[in-house]
Amino acid sequence: MDHAADAHDFLAYVQASPTPRHCVAETVRRLEDAGFVSGEPAGAADAGFSARAGSLLAWRRNGAGPVRVVTAHTDSPNLRVKPQPDTRGAGLHQLGVEVYGGVLLNSWLDRDLGLAGHVVLRGSDGIETRLVTIDRPVLRVPQLAIHLDREINTKGLHLNKQQHMKPVWGIAGDDDERSLAELLGAEIDVDPSAILAFELMTFDVVPPALWGWQEEFIASPRIDNQLSCWAATTALANTDAPGTQVIALFDHEEVGSTSATGADSGLLADALGELVGASPAEDSLCISADCAHATHPNYADRHDPEHQIALNGGPVIKINANERYATTPMGHALFADACERADVPHQVFVNRTDLACGSTVGPITAARTGLETVDVGAPQLAMHSARETTGSSDPGFLQAALSAAFQAP
Ligand code: ZN
Repeated sequence: MDHAADAHDFLAYVQASPTPRHCVAETVRRLEDAGFVSGEPAGAADAGFSARAGSLLAWRRNGAGPVRVVTAHTDSPNLRVKPQPDTRGAGLHQLGVEVYGGVLLNSWLDRDLGLAGHVVLRGSDGIETRLVTIDRPVLRVPQLAIHLDREINTKGLHLNKQQHMKPVWGIAGDDDERSLAELLGAEIDVDPSAILAFELMTFDVVPPALWGWQEEFIASPRIDNQLSCWAATTALANTDAPGTQVIALFDHEEVGSTSATGADSGLLADALGELVGASPAEDSLCISADCAHATHPNYADRHDPEHQIALNGGPVIKINANERYATTPMGHALFADACERADVPHQVFVNRTDLACGSTVGPITAARTGLETVDVGAPQLAMHSARETTGSSDPGFLQAALSAAFQAP
């Protein structure tokens, strides 16, 4: 297992994927390189994919055998541009933004922010969609100086989403009517008036990196959950396991998964119906891959003392008695067995009983497909920060565990 190569490959994947649609485009590029063809699950392709906006389904069929599904999500919390974003304050151009998902707001302050997403425009052949990436620092949300908020370190930072998170992006002269549409038009080389609508989000343009004394760690945006998307894609591209393997990468997990392309749509259940019929084989398994909380050394008391989670400790199996995670004992056992076969360590997480537990797509897809499910994920710190941390061996561990899980024991 070459953990360094896996870590660098993950960094390249995440850097190509500032938005869910970019993540899908990068995944498609990698699947096509591995011989997968675009199509529908009902079609003839034994190695195919179907991309829909910020979500993607891909599959490989290889004779009789179990059905193994890996799910993950392409979206991450961030700041998204309002439809009429142009505003100004104190002589500066600013953009109005909405907060998408559970953002750690402080982590977006004083960062070099680019802008990415897609625009819908009137082209010469009708209405068309174009991906946009402005990967240079065009925006910034400056902090307030400590001299103007003397109690910030003792009373805490209070950020109002409407008032305090508006990025600055230029000096506004008296007769300067610059607009975001103008910037976008120049960027994609169209007249600004041709732009009909857009979905744009901010991202940190500083490249992800290995860090630590011996590069034990990765610092990167969107580890939650593009790390799982990368691991699922890599495992599927390289498997030759018998049976049917499916990956489902969903948008909109961070806002509840209810959308046309989210996990609470019919995408996965319909595809499984086409690929393997209404009732999948008995030893089928759905692995819901989404990152897990590693134990933070400065806040170790936020974890259950008997379930401490280590970076570079391998995939985490997540269990919750109240079905916030969908892990069943059989799902747990099958995934632990896959880790053992792959020579990968694994860990088990339960939330502190007196803290509210997060959730993921596992319970939703379990309800919609009826598949035996296990919720797993790579350990990470600073979940939902603009720049998160995981162990530099953890991408390789997760990818190897998913590859082994594609094989029935
Ligand atoms: Zn997540």
